[in-house]
Amino acid sequence: MLLNITTTHQPATDLGYLLHKHPDKCQSFPMTFGQAHVFYPESNTQKCTATLLLDVNPVDLVRGKSNSQGEGKLSQYVNDRPYVSSSFMSVAIAKVFRTALSGRCKDMPELVGTAIPLSVNLPVLPCRGGISFLKELFEPLGYEVTGKAIPLDSTFTAWEDSVYIDATLSNTLPLQNLLSHIYVLIPVLDDDKHYWVGDEEIDKLLRHGEGWLNEHPIKEQITKRYLKRRWSLARKALEQLSEEDTQDIEVEDTVRDEEEAAIEKPISLNQQRLEVVAETIKQSQAKRVIDLGCGEGKLIKYLLKSKSIEQITGVDVSYRTLEIAKKRLKLDDLPFHQKDKIQLIKGSLIYRDKRFNNYDAATLIEVIEHLDLNRLAALERVVFEFAKPKLVIVTTPNIEYNVQFKSLPHGKLRHRDHRFEWTRKEFQDWANNVCENFNYQVAFQDIGDEDSEVGTPTQMATFTLSI
Ligand code: SAH
Repeated sequence: MLLNITTTHQPATDLGYLLHKHPDKCQSFPMTFGQAHVFYPESNTQKCTATLLLDVNPVDLVRGKSNSQGEGKLSQYVNDRPYVSSSFMSVAIAKVFRTALSGRCKDMPELVGTAIPLSVNLPVLPCRGGISFLKELFEPLGYEVTGKAIPLDSTFTAWEDSVYIDATLSNTLPLQNLLSHIYVLIPVLDDDKHYWVGDEEIDKLLRHGEGWLNEHPIKEQITKRYLKRRWSLARKALEQLSEEDTQDIEVEDTVRDEEEAAIEKPISLNQQRLEVVAETIKQSQAKRVIDLGCGEGKLIKYLLKSKSIEQITGVDVSYRTLEIAKKRLKLDDLPFHQKDKIQLIKGSLIYRDKRFNNYDAATLIEVIEHLDLNRLAALERVVFEFAKPKLVIVTTPNIEYNVQFKSLPHGKLRHRDHRFEWTRKEFQDWANNVCENFNYQVAFQDIGDEDSEVGTPTQMATFTLSI
């Protein structure tokens, strides 16, 4: 079975440094279940491909007693394992590309964190769940996914396709991230690990899933399959994952939202904010609107009043919040013509997602301040580079105004989950920078009662795509 990693980063031969494997050499590594070989079928400055060839020996497998319990004798020797990418491939990646997977590169350390164009081809990938599942796994991580189902037997077309796919995954990202993604997700696709899964597997999952798994829209499914459907382990892993995100959104958000509302209540800021945003959308004549970080659907309720809007999609990373939104919007009781307009989807704003495409307007209402500053660049790309709606409205607190809130202790932010709050200058600098990078123009608007010194409590930026 093969794994091909190709880059067109210039000079492409840098791939050799990143993988710690010289492009002119062919190297072999003994594995408990056979041999792994690394070589470069193509290597020049324009394009470079590294191949990991895994030669699994079914006899070694039986000797190692892998995956053999309870099965008939023949199936121990005759099975698909030598010919497909499975957990054996992950084990080989961890051994052969250990240094690259851990994000180290002695010769070119600056390349380790650099996003480079990469493409992975797995010619025989078991895909229990089909191409759509493959896409569900990789598209939220920003990959372009192409896959061709392999027929069960080309001489008997009536037998239809097998569970195997010739898959190619392309993305621009650091090599270490790509290796972590495939290390975790190959066994998830195969849904059949060759070894006993215990507590130490949780550590592996959390280590290699760091920075992406907790935000993945189907992290529960990934975790369960990775841990071979051992529910107690999966529960433990998911708990640890949410602890990792210190202020996990699902847990205490309702309480926190109420706190923020109480601070802002005397001026019913929330209402003013939603009215201004809904009015701006209406003026733009947008027909399809996506509310990113929709929370409990307050803006969606306002937008529903506007007859000219044909489609409203709310996105949030928190399943629980979406459930509340569904109840508050009384989705199940709405007349069909209104219900059909609304769609609520679970998704993360820091991963490219095709479901965010083809909207006239996107809103980020009191959302950006809930993201760690170092994740904001990812959100910018997802919204302004990939989804690219004609109009984007962003609102966020103006920190200068906080002194006016009598109930807010000095120096505190308005909400315990806020990772930052910006001054007017900080917000405007950020917005102008977004315009420069992604070809938008921006206008600013103040929302709420104005103080001559510290301005208004909320600041809003309306971005329009330059033609
Ligand atoms: N826009 C809503 C909610 C604001 S609170 C309103 O004005 O009422 C911020 C919301 O952003 C929360 O519901 C939170 O779950 C969501 N959120 C935070 N980080 C996110 C992410 N990375 N992807 C998607 N949603 C996110």
